[in-house]
Amino acid sequence: MFAAQDQKTRADIEAKTDALLKQMTVEEKAGQMTQVTIDLVVRNSEPYPIDPAKLETAVLRYKVGSILNVMDHGYTVDHWHDIINQIQEMAARSRLKIPVLYGLDSIHGANYVLGATLFPQALALAATWNPELAERAGEISAFQTRAAGIPWNFYPVLDVGRQPLWPRLWETYGEDVRLATEMGKAYIRGLQGNNVGAKDKVAACLKHYAGYSFPFNGKDRTPAHISERMMRQYFLPTFEAGVKAGVPTVMVNSGEIDGIPGHANYHLLTEILKNEWGFQGFVVSDWQDIERLHTRDRVADSPKEAVRMAVMAGLDMSMVPNDFSFYDLLLESVKDGSVPMARIDDAVRRILRVKFMTGIFDNPRPDPAMKARFDQPAFAEANLAAAREAITLLKNRNNVLPLARGRKILVTGPTADRLTVLNGGWSTTWPGDREDLYPKDKLTIRRAIELAAGKDHVTFAPGTTFDKEIDMASTVAAAADADVIVACLGEPAYCETPGNIDDLTLDAAQLRLVEELSKTRKPLVAILAQGRARVIRAIADVCDAIVMACLPGLEGGRAVADVLFGDVNPSGKLPVTYPRHPNALTTYDYKVSETLEGNRIDPEFEFGHGLSYTTFEYSNLRLSSDALRRNGELKASVSVKNTGTRAGKEVVQLYVSDLYRSLTPPNRELKGFRKVELHPGESRNVEFTLTAADLAFVGINNRWMAEPGKFRVRVAQLAQEFTLE
Ligand code: BGC
Repeated sequence: MFAAQDQKTRADIEAKTDALLKQMTVEEKAGQMTQVTIDLVVRNSEPYPIDPAKLETAVLRYKVGSILNVMDHGYTVDHWHDIINQIQEMAARSRLKIPVLYGLDSIHGANYVLGATLFPQALALAATWNPELAERAGEISAFQTRAAGIPWNFYPVLDVGRQPLWPRLWETYGEDVRLATEMGKAYIRGLQGNNVGAKDKVAACLKHYAGYSFPFNGKDRTPAHISERMMRQYFLPTFEAGVKAGVPTVMVNSGEIDGIPGHANYHLLTEILKNEWGFQGFVVSDWQDIERLHTRDRVADSPKEAVRMAVMAGLDMSMVPNDFSFYDLLLESVKDGSVPMARIDDAVRRILRVKFMTGIFDNPRPDPAMKARFDQPAFAEANLAAAREAITLLKNRNNVLPLARGRKILVTGPTADRLTVLNGGWSTTWPGDREDLYPKDKLTIRRAIELAAGKDHVTFAPGTTFDKEIDMASTVAAAADADVIVACLGEPAYCETPGNIDDLTLDAAQLRLVEELSKTRKPLVAILAQGRARVIRAIADVCDAIVMACLPGLEGGRAVADVLFGDVNPSGKLPVTYPRHPNALTTYDYKVSETLEGNRIDPEFEFGHGLSYTTFEYSNLRLSSDALRRNGELKASVSVKNTGTRAGKEVVQLYVSDLYRSLTPPNRELKGFRKVELHPGESRNVEFTLTAADLAFVGINNRWMAEPGKFRVRVAQLAQEFTLE
C-alpha cells in the first residue's frame, strides 16, 4: 500500500497519525470526516472572497476536514493562494491545528485555475494509445494544481466506458480494460510520482468506484445491473491497479448497482476495496450522495439513517457538501451507539494518514515561488503533442487528405469556431460552455485552418447551430466557390447529467447540412468534435474523409489543422467502438453468440481503428513456443514495416481469443499494445510477453482463473495459436 513511499516514511506517518488521533475529541473526528463546498465559506458575489465569519463557522465550529470546488468559474493562481492561505490560517487557530485538505477536479489539467494547460480529455488521450503522453499530462496537471496551492485532485476516472450514451464517456479512457488500465497507471505516475507530498505532485482520487459508467439506460446516475462476475471482469481491474499504484483516495459511484446504491455498498467499499485489496487511504462520497440515500434512493428512512448506512458501508469522508448536517447526524449516531467509535477512528486514521502524506502538515500554504513557473512553454508543447496524437483519421477516400495548400476551403459547422467544443466540461466552469473565459490566443479549428492555409483561402459560414439551421442556403452556395469543404460537427460542451441524450444520432440539423453540401460534389471532410461517438450513418458515406477529434483540448484546433494539411501524420486509434446505428451498441470484445443467425456486428468504425498517411505492413507473427506453462512466459513477436512514403506512428495491437472456456469467451481481448514510430521503409520487430494472468478470466466462482486450452493470438491480419498447459 502506498508503494511509492519508503518504509521509514510510512512508519513515521503511522506514528504521527496515531499520536494525533489519540488527542482528538469525537467532535474533531466528525469534523475531519466532513467535506463542504467553498460556497459555505465565501461571500456570494464576485469575486467571491473568503467570508471570515463563515470560514470560522466551518473550520472552528464544525472542524471540517476538507473543502472543495470553485464558485462559478476558475480563479487566478493569486486568488487561489489567498483562499488557501486564509483557510489554513483559520485551521492553525484550531485546537490541534490540523490543516484542511482542499480538493479540486483537475480533470484535463488544472481546469479551475485560470491560464492552466487544458489537455485532451481522457477519451481523446486514450485515442493516442500512448501512455507517455498521459504521464506527461498528469505531471503538468499536478504541477499547476499544486502551484495553485491544491494538494488533492479528484481524478482519474477509472470507470471503463462501455455505455456509449453515457454523458461522462469522455472522462474515461474508453471501453477496454487493458487500455484504460495502462493509460490510468501512466497518468497516476505523472500526477503522484514517488511522493504525493512533493511540491509539484498531488494526491489522486480514483473514481467513481465502481460500475458508475454502465447505467442501463445510458443516463448519468441511474441504475446499473452488473453481476459480481461482470464487476470483477470489467469494472474493478482499473481500480485495483490504481490502488496498487498507490492512489490514496477513492470516490464512490453516485448511482446504484443491482439495487444497492454505491454509497451503501459494504461489499464493494469494505470487503473488496479495504479488505481484499488492502486499501489504506480514505473513501470520499460523491456530491451530496449520502443524503441522497434518503432523499433519492429511498434505502434510508431518515437522513440520520443515511449517514449510519454510508459510514458503516465504508465511507470515510462525506462530500456533504452544502451544509453541516452530516457532522451533526454523525455525532448523534456516535453518541447513541449506532455508529461505533472504532469505525470513526478507522475513518479518521485514514484521512489523517493521507493528510500527512500530502505534506500539508509541514507546508499547508501554497508556495508563492511556484506562481512564476506556472505557465511554461514546454507545457503547451506537451499539450500540442498529445492533441496531435489524439486526432484519429477514420476515413480517407481517395486520399482526399492531406489537403494541398493553395486550395479554397469552405469551413462550416457548429464546432468550427468555438473553443468550448474542443475542451468539453470541466473547463474553467463545470459545464465548460463559457466561450468568453477561454484564452484569446488559442485557436479554434477555423482559426487554425486560416493560419495554416492563409486567410484568403478560407471562407467560413456556420451553417447550423448544434441543432438548428442558420444559413444553410448561403453556406451551400458558398461551397460552389470552394475546392474542398471542411464540416465541423459534434456536440456542445456539457458535463454530467445535463449531457444526457435520448438519441445517440448526431443532431438532424448537422446531418442535413452535410447532406446538402454533399450535393455540390465537392470533396467533403467531416471533423467530429464530440465527447462520445454520435451516430453519423446518414452522412458517413457521402463524406470523403472523417476525422475524430473527440475533445482534444486547448491545442486541439491546431492539431486538427496539422493533420488536415499533413504537417502531422495522424496516429490516433479509436478507444471505443464507433456505432453505426443507435440500437446496435456493442463493444469490440462481444460474445460470439452476438454474431449468429443473421446478427451482424458492423460498427461504423472498429475499436482500435485509425488511418495514417502512410501504410504499415505486418509480417512474421511468431510465438516463442506453441505451449505456455502456467508459471511461464510466452513471447509473441511481429514485424511491422512502414511501406509508404512518410514517417508515421503505428499502434501495434495484440489480441487474444480463448477458443473454448467454461464460461462463454469474448471473441477477442486486447492483451498488449505498443506505439512505434517508423520512417519510410523502416521495419521493427515488436515483442509482447504473455503469461497465464493475461489469459485469465473471472470464472464460475467469481475468482480469476486461467483454464488450459487453445488460444489464438492476432496482430492485424496475422494469427497464431498456442496451448495453455
Ligand atoms: C462528480 C464528481 C466530482 C464531484 C466534485 C460530482 O458531481 O460526480 O466526479 O468529483 O462532483 O466536483
